[in-house]
Amino acid sequence: MKCTICKKPAIINLRYSKDAYCQQHFISTFDKKVIDTINKNKMLQYNDKVGVGVSGGKDSMITLFILNRLHKKGKLKHKPIGIAIDEGIKGYRDKSLVDLRKFCKEYDIELHEFSIKDEFGKTLDDFVKISDKKKMALKPCSICGVFRRYMLNKYSRELKLDKLATGHNLDDEIQSFMINLFRGDAARSARLGPITGVIRPKDFVLRIKPLYFTPEKESFLYSMIRKFPTHNYVCPYAHTAFRNEVRESMDQLEYKYPGTKFSTVKSSLRFIEIAKDAYSGLKEINNCKLCGEPTSKKTCKTCELIEKLIN
Ligand code: SF4
Ligand SMILES: [Zn+2]
Ligand SMILES: [Zn+2]
Repeated sequence: MKCTICKKPAIINLRYSKDAYCQQHFISTFDKKVIDTINKNKMLQYNDKVGVGVSGGKDSMITLFILNRLHKKGKLKHKPIGIAIDEGIKGYRDKSLVDLRKFCKEYDIELHEFSIKDEFGKTLDDFVKISDKKKMALKPCSICGVFRRYMLNKYSRELKLDKLATGHNLDDEIQSFMINLFRGDAARSARLGPITGVIRPKDFVLRIKPLYFTPEKESFLYSMIRKFPTHNYVCPYAHTAFRNEVRESMDQLEYKYPGTKFSTVKSSLRFIEIAKDAYSGLKEINNCKLCGEPTSKKTCKTCELIEKLIN
């Protein structure tokens, strides 16, 4: 197997495109793909102050690394910053935050950490125990996702960020789309896409996903070659998520029919555009009567959840 570009021995064979790359050309095509995604989708402008939602895993490190390089090359005025949410998942987030701090120190990147415990008085582990005790049939990821989205938006706004980048990759995005499809939740898919949000009032910080067209397998290899200090720890609650089964099914299909993931993301984008048109403007945005954060109802999802869990 030889590199498509230089004919030296290849380290990866991309079955979906029939290209193979040596280490040097794998890195350069990967970087180019991410920069093209940013440019084609008009994700960033020179003056944007951008933060990256970081976890200590490979994808958010790559996103931060590439945006930091754009700043170094003079393409972005401000140096990107990292924002991490410590959910309070023992044996997992505490460890991945160690990797993250190491990474930020190495690249001299400002890191802001916020914790669910400081924000809501308890850790995610505590909330999961309460939910189990109350037989609330809530999956840990549902609690985690609501709280994390809330905090990321709140603190991105407080830090006066214009954009918040996340490390969602091609596999993550396909899984989200398929999950919404299986659950019959078309409106939720309107919130997907390389730039998220149906409505963009001033209280929401726009989210961008530079790794939208990057398969998981490739981001894994990229972070290994770049020697990022990540152990890619796995969350102890991950196995409880429906997402896992969707991931396995998509991996099997991709293995049998190379290119399935890319064609799925392509058709999902068409669908997302239609869904954005159909659902934009339907919801009026208010400020939550309890916490003041933006919501389409009187009380936001986070406050509703806190109310159910604590009271
Ligand atoms: S797997 Fe679920 S609980 Fe764990 S960090 Fe991800 S969303 Fe949160
Ligand atoms: Zn090569
Ligand atoms: Zn609220």
